[in-house]
Amino acid sequence: MKTARRLSPLPLLLILALLIFTAGLITGWTGASTHHPDEQTDPKTLHAQNPAPAQSAPPLPTPTPVPASDKPSAGYDGSGWNLVLVNWEHSLPEHFTVPELTQLRGGQAIDSRAYPALQAMMDDCRAAGLQPVICSSFRTWEGQEGLFEEEVQNWLARGYIQEEAEAQAAAWVARPGTSEHQLGLAVDIVDTGYQLLEKSQEDTPVQRWLMAHCAEYGFILRYPTGKSGLTGVSYEPWHYRYVGVEAARAIMDGGLCLEEYLSD
Ligand SMILES: [Zn+2]
Repeated sequence: MKTARRLSPLPLLLILALLIFTAGLITGWTGASTHHPDEQTDPKTLHAQNPAPAQSAPPLPTPTPVPASDKPSAGYDGSGWNLVLVNWEHSLPEHFTVPELTQLRGGQAIDSRAYPALQAMMDDCRAAGLQPVICSSFRTWEGQEGLFEEEVQNWLARGYIQEEAEAQAAAWVARPGTSEHQLGLAVDIVDTGYQLLEKSQEDTPVQRWLMAHCAEYGFILRYPTGKSGLTGVSYEPWHYRYVGVEAARAIMDGGLCLEEYLSD
């Protein structure tokens, strides 16, 4: 009996103890799993624990190139990235960056979206027995700033006061934010046999070919002769701008400049 009395509560106690132990284990586990991340100070670990939110995030702020024309404050016309207007009165936003650049030979670069067209045009021009060479292309904001500042210094050295020097400089070098080269869609192409950036560049075999064929590839001669009053830039028979084939044909066939085409 004594043993029976002592024995009978034992299984109960054991069960109770087991229950408490198990409950303790469960709370211990959950406690551990919630506290574990907070206790990690290693940023790598914290990073590794965030894959779920990171993976679900992309659909919202997709880093795919947002058409520049979607930025209303920047002087864009809303017709698409290839028709963005940049000139003396339409400045790029201060922190404008090209979504993606393709590097070319000689340290040149162009917006990746215009690269296939440029490559095809250069290839076909060479296939025609000519020797085009790109001498200027994409410029960073800082790069344009440097060029402009250099020009301002030239005019200051000639005795002009700051304001006048800047005005004079702007006639030769676009102010930062107003150069098409910052867009990444413009290239200066010259003939290997004659590389001076002056009016007579128009007589080179390369320019004759480019002026006749650039529209087929979506490029225009951006600053044609006789349009300086509209473009704000003097005649440049070497500066080509990508606008897409449809616009390029209309502009080149119609003898227009981009400003005229966009104002229609
Ligand atoms: Zn140019």
